[in-house]
Amino acid sequence: MTKNWVIAIDGYSSTGKSSISKVIAKRLGLIHMDTGALYRGITYYGLMHCLDNNDNLDLQQLILSLPRINLVFEKKDDELQLILNGNNIDKEIRQPIVSENVSQVAKLPEVRAFLLDTQRNIAKTGGVIMDGRDIGTIVLPNADYKFFLTASPDERAKRRHLELLGFGENISIEEVKKNLIDRDKIDSERDVAPLKQAEDAILIDNSDLTKEQTIELIISYIK
Ligand code: C5P
Repeated sequence: MTKNWVIAIDGYSSTGKSSISKVIAKRLGLIHMDTGALYRGITYYGLMHCLDNNDNLDLQQLILSLPRINLVFEKKDDELQLILNGNNIDKEIRQPIVSENVSQVAKLPEVRAFLLDTQRNIAKTGGVIMDGRDIGTIVLPNADYKFFLTASPDERAKRRHLELLGFGENISIEEVKKNLIDRDKIDSERDVAPLKQAEDAILIDNSDLTKEQTIELIISYIK
């Protein structure tokens, strides 16, 4: 049952948006786009090339560098991988240092404007499931289906911690939880395109649902 649906999945950090969207895309024959990866890609560029004298991210320098940033997704082994100026950075963008800085970068109106066309162009022909924070509200307000995922902070920290251990990152669950809460706060309170549920989005709290149960629940709404 392949249709040209446009599906928006937004929600809090580590509610499983991307991994759930990936499976739904396969099942429904859609392209999946993880928009958080784009914000992470810009942040990674900044950490490589735009540091101030104290080795902190220099946001003004990063804004001036945007024309030098080329971010594209390339298909590898049936998955889309993020390519920054010709280099595959799919693993690098998951590092905790990127997570610590990404919400400051995502707050910048210049960065959001820079990424808007990339995101809308992908959805132009339909047949896409896009996950992020502002997909149902700003990027694709006319999406056919909108979902907003939430879960308790403890449950989300547990999931993200396991994922990071799988990547070989040595980090405590407390640090992971703090990062999630900090990011959600910055993402929800920013002036441009804040994280919030679209009025016509279906709310799903998956604190007590497995990944598979969440997938089935979302698919049950898509007719
Ligand atoms: O989805 P993920 O956790 O990888 O996103 C990383 C960060 O990118 C978020 O915390 C948020 O600051 C930013 N983001 C955003 N808008 C999106 C997707 C992600 O601001 N559509």
